[in-house]
Amino acid sequence: MKKLLPLALFISGTALANFHLAPPDFEVNGGMAVFVDMKTAEYKITYDLTEKTATVKSKIVFESRTEGFPIFDLIPNPTNVKIDGAPLKTVQRKDPFGSKMRTLNMVIGKGTHVLEMENEISRNVSFSDSESFPSVRSAFWIRDLKDRMFLEQYIPSNYEYDQLQMTFNVEIKGAKKPSYDFFVNGEISQTSVNTWKIVYPAYFTVSSLYYHMTPKGSLRKAEATYKSISGREFKITAYTDWYLKTSKFLAYAQEVMAELEADYGPWGHPNFITYGTLPGGGMEHSGAAQTSLGALDHEMLHSYFAKGVMPGRGDDGWIDEAIASWRDYGYLRLPDVSFTGSDLGNHSPYKRNTDDRCYELGRSFMAYLDYRLQNVGGLKAFLRGYFAAYKHTVITTQHFKNNLEFFSGQNFDHEFETLIWGTNSKDAMVSGHNPNHLPMTDKQLKDML
Ligand SMILES: [Zn+2]
Repeated sequence: MKKLLPLALFISGTALANFHLAPPDFEVNGGMAVFVDMKTAEYKITYDLTEKTATVKSKIVFESRTEGFPIFDLIPNPTNVKIDGAPLKTVQRKDPFGSKMRTLNMVIGKGTHVLEMENEISRNVSFSDSESFPSVRSAFWIRDLKDRMFLEQYIPSNYEYDQLQMTFNVEIKGAKKPSYDFFVNGEISQTSVNTWKIVYPAYFTVSSLYYHMTPKGSLRKAEATYKSISGREFKITAYTDWYLKTSKFLAYAQEVMAELEADYGPWGHPNFITYGTLPGGGMEHSGAAQTSLGALDHEMLHSYFAKGVMPGRGDDGWIDEAIASWRDYGYLRLPDVSFTGSDLGNHSPYKRNTDDRCYELGRSFMAYLDYRLQNVGGLKAFLRGYFAAYKHTVITTQHFKNNLEFFSGQNFDHEFETLIWGTNSKDAMVSGHNPNHLPMTDKQLKDML
């Protein structure tokens, strides 16, 4: 029997600003590079079919808690950068562990500021060659096993600890009456003949948002209304290339939805949308996934753990892959862990990608936790309560451990210090590739447009 958890059992402490989850500020030439809290971000995205360009004008309102060089990230070089209306520049820098990001090139005072800039989007955008029927396809694909593969590939954005409302205003220039399908996990409205507005939920982070636009009808869509165990009705959308079976994706999504809701509680997002692609794994977003049929269940689980309860840093990303992988292998319960030590969650506080040994080592760790928790309903009972208490919030490994100990009344210091925050043992040096998250080339990502 499953034990029901009173929510009060969980250690509370949600903070909107999430400053406490930011990596430490660090010294640079001339002062400190400082992490900020982005409040809102508006992105005006313009596709010019004649010029074949995709450009973004961004306006970000952020709060700085101390003076310094504000940190953000954007891979393309921005132009027309302004802070509170005054022009300045950005610098690409390295964090103390050697990973790249950007800061402004001026020390900015404590308080609320408006940051503006422009940049071109070149990744995963494709213009047709047709002179008479020009068109564009664009997607903000993300990946979490490689560094700098979140929204910073396309638009200025923050690290994963930050949650903010993002708004896209999309314009298509160069066609009289552009006709497009937008597949998004935000609320969309058409604002004129060639402009659309998408508002994404305020709990989203830099790895939550889903955005894919294609000429109308170029992909096939199927929809169903799903009745949640909460009584709420929401939409499940599957879309695929015409040669794939859209209805199979839709039917399987409904089946998995029923399983996940039964195990972990009501779906935590407004809807679910999935882009069904060829075998080769997928990527999860909040209430959305780009995925092969075989990885659909894995990616949907991530709408609970990864994009429902969300990791604050790359070093916390092992948790959700461990849970998903534990489910993939049939929720094993094992009295021993298969390895004797690892640094899965102990790389760099600035790290944004996840250690790819997290599947194999992580599911072994979860199977062991399930064994240890068997007298209190098992690990699933804990996870169900953890999701109910912390969906739409950003968590850390320490937070996961604290709550696990509180729930079970047991101490896991030794296990975490050795197996997650320790050093790598020989038996922890497993190959990291997981069939659900296979590495993809730039060409493969572009071909999915
Ligand atoms: Zn995964």
